[in-house]
Amino acid sequence: MVVIIMILKQIKVGRMANFTYIVGDEASGLAAVIDPSWDLEIVMDELKRNGLKLEYIINTHTHFDHVLGNEQLKVLTGARIVMHKNSLLEKDITVDDNDIIALGNLRIKVFYTPGHSKDSICLLVENKLFTGDTLFVGSCGRVDLPGGDANELYESLRRLALLDDSIEVYPGHDYGYERYSTIGREKRSNPVMKVKSRDEFLAMVGV
Ligand SMILES: [Zn+2]
Repeated sequence: MVVIIMILKQIKVGRMANFTYIVGDEASGLAAVIDPSWDLEIVMDELKRNGLKLEYIINTHTHFDHVLGNEQLKVLTGARIVMHKNSLLEKDITVDDNDIIALGNLRIKVFYTPGHSKDSICLLVENKLFTGDTLFVGSCGRVDLPGGDANELYESLRRLALLDDSIEVYPGHDYGYERYSTIGREKRSNPVMKVKSRDEFLAMVGV
């Protein structure tokens, strides 16, 4: 049996309360960085300190505060950029719903979750879900930016609600009362997850 040890670093960066994440597989020493933007020196330090080689740069969506560090990090590490197929930015690997990205012994599963943008994805690694701007602790992403769609976001959040309650939620911004949560806690306490109907959700997000 292979014992999988996942390294996880949550780094708060910039002035918009963004989170950049490092996900590493201890056995192989391979890592992925999710949503690099500002403060790349901290990201590079953490990779080095944990003896990790960066394999992938993965973006939860293409809003500038989630992709700003892509090119520089690629130059520094040689990592490949992974994005949903609807993203118009330059990328090395295109993913879609249910794709699996292999990172050493870790498997990163892609959920296509449009609503905040047309290329929003969530990433499930072991029992941890990286939700980008789809789901925050206590709220959800905006739907009033280009590509936003409240009906799509409703469907995407419904889908996340079907995941096991014990799955941990790691959002794209530090907008909540804590830096991470669980699907179960969000279903109990997050207004956008507690809605009883689509109409209730649409009224809540102001559409
Ligand atoms: Zn966004």
